[in-house]
Formats: sequence, C-alpha cells, structure tokens
Amino acid sequence: MTPDQRLAAYRRKRRTDRSGEPRGAYVPAQPAQRPRFVVQRHDARNLHFDVRLEVDGVLVSWAVPKGPSLNPADKRLAHRTEDHPLTYVDFEGRISEGYGAGTVIVWDIGTYDNLTTVDGVPVAAADALAKGHITVGLHGHKLTGAFAFTRTRMGGDEANWMLVKVDDEAADRRRRPTSTRNESVLTGRTNSDLEVG
Ligand code: MN
Repeated sequence: MTPDQRLAAYRRKRRTDRSGEPRGAYVPAQPAQRPRFVVQRHDARNLHFDVRLEVDGVLVSWAVPKGPSLNPADKRLAHRTEDHPLTYVDFEGRISEGYGAGTVIVWDIGTYDNLTTVDGVPVAAADALAKGHITVGLHGHKLTGAFAFTRTRMGGDEANWMLVKVDDEAADRRRRPTSTRNESVLTGRTNSDLEVG
C-alpha cells in the first residue's frame, strides 16, 4: 500500500471539515530528517494516550488507555489504530463531534531511533512492525530511553499490542508523568483548557 492508500481509513472515519483535524492528505517527510514520535492526550469518551511513530510517511498509531509508563514492570495495553497523516503530529484542539469527539493535546513530542535488531542485525521499522515487535529510543520532553512495542493478539485481536519500558538508565519506577504532568509540551495547555471556547 502507498502511504496515501494507508490514510484511507483515517479519512473515512472522520469529517475533517467539521472536526478541525488535519485533512489527511499525504505529505511526504523531508528526506534525511530523523523520524518523529508524538504522544497525544485524548480526552474522549475514554481518556487515553495516542502514541504515534513516523514510519514511511505516515504516523503508525496505538491508543494506550493508561499511557506509557517509565516502569519496566508495567505492561501497557496498546491498541493499534488507523495510520494518521504526518500533519497530525502537532495537532491540538477540540474535536466537536463524531469520531474521537473530545480534546487533544500534544503530551509529548520528539524524535526516535529505531533500535530493533534480530541477531544483532538492524531491522527496518516497517519490517519490525510487520513482524510484531519494534524497539524505539525516544528523545522527548517527558519520555526518553527505549520502549518496546510487541503484538500480543490478546483475545484474538490482531490490533492488541503491549507497550513496555525497556530497563535502561531512563527507566524510573517512581515517577508517573502520565498522572503528574498533564500539560501540552507545545503550549502548556491541558485538555480542560480546550473544552468549549
Ligand atoms: Mn485517540
């Protein structure tokens, strides 16, 4: 599938003329730029964190109900959702109606390194995702160090993955930024700041 075809589900699920979200046109990344990641705090019907990795021109996405943890002992359910356009990477706002109605802030943003290897040989991000395991080193404001995404197919659902902090120098068993730091790293706003206006 081309990156543009991969965004068909994104476009089908929402009315971007009404929701205020990016339209979902495919915009190629600048070559030679380091790939980006974003974690968006999405206060919708259920509060969750959307974790997205830039891979081959789209944002590969998971909804993580509890958000990423810095504690390697925590296994966080991550539900794979539709690929998002790169323009979504800094989207903040209130989705007034329809799919995902609620507020979205950029809880963390930065670049990442693909650290995935098999027998010491680097594996391209797209191949790692297809195989169901990718390890990334995040360079964010709130999240740093390595995180591993592993497809679990829990309950027979292909979309079920697990997100776990790799035990490295950035691991932290006490701090819980998903509870203590709710603000946008771009604007300092919280989700409640975006409600009505
Ligand atoms: Mn969401």
